[in-house]
Amino acid sequence: MFFRILTTGLLLTLVLPFVADAREQRPARQLFGYVIGPAKMKPRAIGFYTRGCMAGAVALPRTGPAWQAMRPSRNRNWGLPILVKFVEKLAREAKEKDGWPGLLVGDMAQPRGGPMLSGHRSHQLGLDADIWLTPMPDHVQSRKERETRAAVSMLAKGGLSVDPKKWSDARARLIRRAAQDSKVARIFVHPAIKKALCEFADREKTSRGWLSRVRPWWGHHYHFHVRLKCPKGMGGCKSQPAPPPGDGCGKPLDHWFAMMKPKKIKKPVKPVKRKKRKKRRALTLASLPVACRSVLAAGDPGRLARMRYGVIGDIPAPSRNPRRGSGPNLAWKQAQEKAKGSFLANLLAKLKGHSMKAGAAATVIPVADSKGNQGK
Ligand SMILES: [Zn+2]
Repeated sequence: MFFRILTTGLLLTLVLPFVADAREQRPARQLFGYVIGPAKMKPRAIGFYTRGCMAGAVALPRTGPAWQAMRPSRNRNWGLPILVKFVEKLAREAKEKDGWPGLLVGDMAQPRGGPMLSGHRSHQLGLDADIWLTPMPDHVQSRKERETRAAVSMLAKGGLSVDPKKWSDARARLIRRAAQDSKVARIFVHPAIKKALCEFADREKTSRGWLSRVRPWWGHHYHFHVRLKCPKGMGGCKSQPAPPPGDGCGKPLDHWFAMMKPKKIKKPVKPVKRKKRKKRRALTLASLPVACRSVLAAGDPGRLARMRYGVIGDIPAPSRNPRRGSGPNLAWKQAQEKAKGSFLANLLAKLKGHSMKAGAAATVIPVADSKGNQGK
């Protein structure tokens, strides 16, 4: 008996560090991307926008009086209460005061923040939100519409300016309204949109203070990205330095357009070997703030057990987990629905078959087919 306890103890002390280590080195996006609910703790953003997590998140309701959340299968409509309130207020005010039909809200954060399985390096603290530049339709969209409606790029052909058929002052007013809120740290838009906003401000001749918070960045031509400051007194939330003074129009923008201009390609004498870009290493749990471990482990007992016993293999890679995420999972869902449809057809066939004379019915039912379709 004594020896058994001794050997078990020895084995555990030998094995557990490895198991724990393996979890620490696992890409954090697979851990955070898998959690489906928030950590019920005091609301807190921990770390930095591109390296952190969130406790006490709340969900933006999928449908509100002046907004609708898009891509529900991604489960990214979470944020700190301050972010959710911000989005709701912006939506209401833009509708009441600017006549903007309502917001289509894109990705915010996962239920516990952290790195994501796809897209975005930031959005980890529950302080970032993507808002589409497509106005909300006048009806409550179905789940399918929210998954499939395409966002419209504001850029003209060539990508160096906004398309006047798509871009409008109404959109400029919406971004201005968001940027005027003192809780906002930065708003990211495509350089061509930033330029259009500068021109809008020139025409309006009102204060330009808000423009310093609107920063040019790649992408961001069908949506704008709002980033809030760390709430006052929230220890452990690392702020970003304030943007440089000035409206950021003119010279600072020229630099962006110089980068975007298509370069004239000279005929290469020799085929030039391209340097391989270094792949960015995925963030691991060990590379996130320590407090993110308790955020990850909070509440969910099943998950706690897995973490305590260090079972690694039971956590399916969420990119392949059909209940979560976007791309492949949407395809999975559609396949499921299709399968359901054929299941109904089978059932109908079955019922019809029963009404027919016995014998004929058996040949009508391709049950194996409906099973075979599932999961594809
Ligand atoms: Zn974003």
